[in-house]
Amino acid sequence: PAVYDLAHIQSLVRAIPDFPHKGIVFQDIFPIFQDPVAIESLTLHLLTRIKETLGEETNKVDVVVGLDARGFLFGPALAIHLGAAFVPVRKQGKLPGACTTASYSKEYGTDVLEVQEGAIRPGQRVIIIDDLIATGGTAAAAGELVRKSKGTIAMYLFVIELLFLKGRDKLEGGSVESLLHYE
Ligand code: AMP
Repeated sequence: PAVYDLAHIQSLVRAIPDFPHKGIVFQDIFPIFQDPVAIESLTLHLLTRIKETLGEETNKVDVVVGLDARGFLFGPALAIHLGAAFVPVRKQGKLPGACTTASYSKEYGTDVLEVQEGAIRPGQRVIIIDDLIATGGTAAAAGELVRKSKGTIAMYLFVIELLFLKGRDKLEGGSVESLLHYE
């Protein structure tokens, strides 16, 4: 089957000025999902990057953590390919049962992320995935949840990185990888 290259996938991402606030250019990945070949191609590019980054350690990944909400589009597909679990990290109040929490500061005020207790077990190796890294606050809080669960971060992975915001500087404990870049 055909596999689109990353330049073609990037051409499908739609930039929406002033959404959800004035001054923000929202990078909309949903047009990729209108084409099943594009969905499959993007999944394969993410997997390739994981294998290039982790090498033989790829087989030792136990958990893929997806971030609310667009990380959920990629996490389960990667987990299937890696033979790993999928675990959601969500905004506070969305997950039932006992949860571990981490807060992070946003443009206005703070936000809280949660993971269910016991979903990540001590010693497990974790990949954190999201559609996009901007300031890095969300992914940094997810990293804190992995550490509080006593897991190890193998890598942080993003489809899109907004390089000018330097969000990767906030991330600790694992490599930071992204496929598409915006200056
Ligand atoms: P941050 O915590 O600043 O790194 O923001 C990352 C989170 O917000 C991710 O879950 C993204 O889906 C979302 N996000 C932030 N900025 C954008 C943007 N310009 N376009 C699309 N999503 C964004």
